[in-house]
Amino acid sequence: MPTASPHFFDLDPDSLAAHFDQWGLPRFRARQVMQWVYQHGVADPQAMTNLTQRDRDLLADRLRFLVGTPVRHERATDGTQKLLLDWHAQPDAKRQLTVLGQSAGGSAMQTECVMIPAESKASGKLRRTACISSQVGCPVGCHFCASGLGGLDANLTAGQIVEQVFQLQQIPGIERITNIVFMGMGEPLANFNQVVQAIRTLMADWAFNLAGRRITVSTVGLPAQIRRLADLDLPVTLAISLHAPNDDVRRKLIPWAAQVSVEQLVDAGRHYFQRTGREVTLEYILLRHVNDRPEHARELADVARRLRANINLIRYNEVAGLPFDRPTSEDVHAFQQVLRERGVNTHIRASRGRDIAAACGQLRHEHQAQT
Ligand code: SF4
Repeated sequence: MPTASPHFFDLDPDSLAAHFDQWGLPRFRARQVMQWVYQHGVADPQAMTNLTQRDRDLLADRLRFLVGTPVRHERATDGTQKLLLDWHAQPDAKRQLTVLGQSAGGSAMQTECVMIPAESKASGKLRRTACISSQVGCPVGCHFCASGLGGLDANLTAGQIVEQVFQLQQIPGIERITNIVFMGMGEPLANFNQVVQAIRTLMADWAFNLAGRRITVSTVGLPAQIRRLADLDLPVTLAISLHAPNDDVRRKLIPWAAQVSVEQLVDAGRHYFQRTGREVTLEYILLRHVNDRPEHARELADVARRLRANINLIRYNEVAGLPFDRPTSEDVHAFQQVLRERGVNTHIRASRGRDIAAACGQLRHEHQAQT
């Protein structure tokens, strides 16, 4: 197979049809192939039974469908499932390393994606949320996070981002993914163009047909990129990973906070709200005795009120070798109480999949340590 053969999940119907023209395949076949993949979950050309054998062979030769190899699949007792995908054989995985001067490292080209089932309180329906990665490793290097331990290895392509959702749907029993969060490995807004292209595919009626409000982009905070996202026609939910109520604490946890202040993030978040009408969420990982004190909660309430944001509190999942602890339940609830008393809408996110290395980057970290 030629190494430059296109990846199916990078293509929309028009670009697939253009390739079919070049290969001498009828254009209507492109629509059929899109239906096989997105409607029927079939990504093996040999199983596309309404194609001629010649067309199936040609497709298998010219087009790459699944480029990520699952190397680990873990299932937690609470139903959370995690896949570790290896992109190693892919020639295009190390392109576009333009993020803040980062260069490709030598570690394994693996990323994680997770399916988290939960019952919707409003409708009672089962939600299946895919938490997906946008980069291999992460350039930010938050001191509490396993994903940032080895730095950035590569940006994922739009196709690789979309393929994670497809691969999760291939797991027996999962059926359809209903929500997407860009909260896996990487800083999505540092891989802006590929992430935006992937979101367009996730929302397209010929593909996953997900409403924008069901897709959350979570960023540690690149104000210029937040504004750029706000000015597109993508009504996705924005979550800012604040993790600290002020610059002093934030700089101790997040290296990029040295360049970006909380105030700049509040401004960018306000712009996002004004342009899209969508409330911003603040993500806040509670680290024991680091950012979980009542005075932190009071300061955080001020930030949230200025931004009219709601807050997701996340209890830290410990990572072996990192010097941070999970807060006690009493401290988490006391923290929430301070926020609520100040009128801030606050939600404690349930810890999911703790028995399968659920923290972002943790499974890859453990897998690489073992192998
Ligand atoms: Fe990167 Fe997010 Fe981990 Fe920070 S918490 S290192 S931004 S993946």
